[in-house]
Amino acid sequence: MINTKTPVSVLGLGLMGHALAETLLTAGHPTTVWNRTASKADRLVEAGATLADSAEAAVKASQLVIICVTDPAAVRAVLDQLDGALDDTVLINLTSGPSSAATEFADWAEQHGPDFLDGAILASPEMIGTADTTIVYSGSRAAFDRNAETLGRLGVATHVGDDHRQAALLEMAGLGLMWGALNGYLHGAALIRAAGVDAATFAPLAAATLRAVADWLPGYAKQIDDGEFPPLDGTLDTHLAAMHHLLAESETLGLNLELPRYVTSVAERGAAEDKGQQGYAVLIDQFGG
Ligand code: NAP
Repeated sequence: MINTKTPVSVLGLGLMGHALAETLLTAGHPTTVWNRTASKADRLVEAGATLADSAEAAVKASQLVIICVTDPAAVRAVLDQLDGALDDTVLINLTSGPSSAATEFADWAEQHGPDFLDGAILASPEMIGTADTTIVYSGSRAAFDRNAETLGRLGVATHVGDDHRQAALLEMAGLGLMWGALNGYLHGAALIRAAGVDAATFAPLAAATLRAVADWLPGYAKQIDDGEFPPLDGTLDTHLAAMHHLLAESETLGLNLELPRYVTSVAERGAAEDKGQQGYAVLIDQFGG
């Protein structure tokens, strides 16, 4: 039987690239792979992937090409190995990096011919291919639409704009949120551990708190976009009073005070601007932009 699934080449077979290639292969796509260290392709080749002996050969093997390596410098190192026009190719970069890198690679694509999409994977390798994975793409809408079915095999594929920078910007915003939440969790775990309670006791409560906070976000987003901040979950003053409790508790338990001090100082600056009776989202001004 003829395989009508879109052939795909995947360049970069680290944890993430390997998961991408494996998912496409399992879904029945003819899959060509290349990695600087060729041995990382062994399992994929055993499962039916074709190993290209150069980045150039991998790119020439398929019209849809995905690159996922460590960082923009590694992408540059791979692009430098490519020679010749790539007019019929759709090149997708799923390597993390700042939006300036997306612009740089879009410019490269402009000179070398391929349609270019920059993407950001909002998931870990073991989640690839599941409905819990979101991958955002920005750049050529037509190239995205032509390949939406294939990209949908990797996770929920969302085109977020024609401007190449948008996927990277969303990724950076998401990462900042993730580390803010994780640092908050680690501070909380340290706090209860200092009082002799194990971290496992805190985990379900922490998850419930994150879910509740997640539900506030659409309301906050509307306020930020509208520039009006009536209190939703509580006034800034109410939040600030509770922050002082957290600071005092952390001090009593001998914890590192950087995080509660930082959180409190942001809110205090807002209150000093006479915003204490407004909602928490009024603090958006403290973050610039
Ligand atoms: P990784 O396991 O460390 O793999 C890095 C890959 O980059 C390897 O294939 C490596 O080749 C290749 N590479 C590095 N420098 C290179 C160069 N100069 N020339 C050619 N290839 C080079 O990293 P990963 O977890 O797969 O992550 C890949 C990208 O996905 C990163 O940008 C990461 O931020 C992003 N991402 C990862 C996750 C995650 O949970 N892992 C989640 C979201 C996004 P060798 O095998 O030869 O060293």
